[in-house]
Amino acid sequence: MKRRDLLRLGRAGAGKRYRDRDEVDFVIVGSGAAGGVLARELAQAGFSVVVLEQGPRLTEADFTHDEYSRWVQWSMGDDPRDNGQTFRRTESERASVNPVAPPAIYARTVGGSSVHFTANFWRFHPSDFAEGTLWGSVPGADLVDWPITYDELEPYYTKVDWEVGVSGRAGANPYEPRRSRPYPMPPLPVKSSGVLFEKGCREMGWTAFPAPMAITSQPYRGRAGCVHCGFCMGFGCEMRAKSSTLVTMIPEAESTGRCEVRPESRVVGVELDRAGRTTGVRYLDASRTEHLQRGKAVILSANGAETPRLLFLSESNQFPNGLANSSGAVGRYLMFNGQTLVGASFEHELNEFKSVQVTRVMHDFYEADPERGFYGGGGIDARIFYHPMFWGMEGFGSRDDPWWGSDYKKLLREYPRSMYVNGHTTSLPVATNSITLDPRVRDTWGYPAIRVTYRDHPDDMSMMRFLQDRSVEIAEAAGAKRVWRHPVVEASITAHLLGTCRMGTDPATSVIDPDHRTHDVPNLFICDGSSLVTSGRGQPTMTIMALAFRAAERIGERARRGEI
Ligand SMILES: Cc1cc2nc3c(=O)[nH]c(=O)nc-3n(C[C@H](O)[C@H](O)[C@H](O)COP(=O)(O)OP(=O)(O)OC[C@H]3O[C@@H](n4cnc5c(N)ncnc54)[C@H](O)[C@@H]3O)c2cc1C
Ligand code: SF4
Repeated sequence: MKRRDLLRLGRAGAGKRYRDRDEVDFVIVGSGAAGGVLARELAQAGFSVVVLEQGPRLTEADFTHDEYSRWVQWSMGDDPRDNGQTFRRTESERASVNPVAPPAIYARTVGGSSVHFTANFWRFHPSDFAEGTLWGSVPGADLVDWPITYDELEPYYTKVDWEVGVSGRAGANPYEPRRSRPYPMPPLPVKSSGVLFEKGCREMGWTAFPAPMAITSQPYRGRAGCVHCGFCMGFGCEMRAKSSTLVTMIPEAESTGRCEVRPESRVVGVELDRAGRTTGVRYLDASRTEHLQRGKAVILSANGAETPRLLFLSESNQFPNGLANSSGAVGRYLMFNGQTLVGASFEHELNEFKSVQVTRVMHDFYEADPERGFYGGGGIDARIFYHPMFWGMEGFGSRDDPWWGSDYKKLLREYPRSMYVNGHTTSLPVATNSITLDPRVRDTWGYPAIRVTYRDHPDDMSMMRFLQDRSVEIAEAAGAKRVWRHPVVEASITAHLLGTCRMGTDPATSVIDPDHRTHDVPNLFICDGSSLVTSGRGQPTMTIMALAFRAAERIGERARRGEI
């Protein structure tokens, strides 16, 4: 198929159409970072695939630069007033709805959160897969090794670089894990924040390097290079420069003629037969009519909040505590990744509101270090963080900030001269941090809401404070005229939904095996943020996609051997 036709297909969502009664090889629930990759890989391998996505299919024409509609009206389908998510700090508290922001932020659209994410694309390091051994136990947490290593995942990270499209410079990060190929594109042009961050790091004896980003720095595989519009974090990209699955994997899956992506199809249950095998899923279409889509196997890629919810909604006599939950691990070990913010304003204008968020990163504190006295590691980057409207609403992030008069005007004038130094840190897997069903609150569809229970481990808090101190040092060494800290507080909102159906070899303590097959149901697979065993240091999506490439290969091989 010609590239021109592929682009048309990507926009229109044309392609194969199956009927519900057709038994396809694979039904995939969710078309986000993981689901999109699985769809393409399995369709290209010759399997018939239906992807059921609860959100609509958006095109470039739908992507505006309207901050109010995006972040106040939650125009990516994540409006907390509809979705019914509740939050509580501990299991003994009654959870409540935050009407201003959902605790679990994600986009309901074809392409999922890869459509509106910031596209920082860090690989995990070898240590991320072996911290149970390297660090040992941490009281109050279940820090264990992954059943796979970095070396096993490396070829799939490289696949992500080249198939999805990542820009960066190999070898620039002195702590970079082994890579078998360079990046397919050079890094994006450095911004003022990147130059100043580099200066600050250099003064401190640390190394800033060009940020690896899932954004095209030049035309790539029929897509345009980034035009630096500035509405990147939280927004869809009209240029198709952001390497979401919407513009990469999904059109390629459809072009095989074997994959249908069915939007506005909300899955509400996984069906089981008497033998304990799945036969397909029940879903509601846009008019809320229920259908059964039959499949020889089902893959859940609905993310770290919705996948466990679906398993709980699919409880039965065979699985009274939730489908595939004989271990009791479904929904547990939720990890967010910590984030810290340090603001810095300079003498001259930086005009950071333009272009992508991040162009420079440092990993000098990536590894956990016993000398610090607590577990944890992280990376630091430089960015604008706030879009103009939010600067006007939140300013320096303190309740004491001026809200009117000449002081408020002064604050607004500081915007073009300001930047942020952001820390991104580990979150420990804690059994009581979880996704469960709220017994009291329902979403607008009438289903029990997602209940998030989350309390940062004390080591997570220590790591955040440690990284914020280093961020202050960088900002000051860069020559900032004024530096301010946003308070380090326990998280109650996240865009990183990790660990809730963890991978492992022991069916008593994990939900899926290293091939992403659930221990309990032989033809039910899970692959998304929920599969992660540890959190990395922020930016989990590169790993989620690498896992999806690997999972597709393993699942496809099993299917061909008749083992599903
Ligand atoms: C503003 C923002 C910025 C971010 N920036 C970064 C970043 O810079 N770097 C990084 O690594 N990560 C970033 N992330 C996180 C990243 O987007 C996620 O880690 C990633 O998209 C998760 O992939 P996933 O496949 O697990 O789920 P998703 O991409 O969320 O996909 C899940 C899909 O399943 C669909 N779905 C859910 N339930 C159902 C159902 N019942 N029926 C049918 N469909 C369903 C959803 O609508 C969604 O489309 C960011 C996230 C946000 C919100
Ligand atoms: S900054 Fe670049 S990648 Fe981001 S939305 Fe704009 S054009 Fe797309």
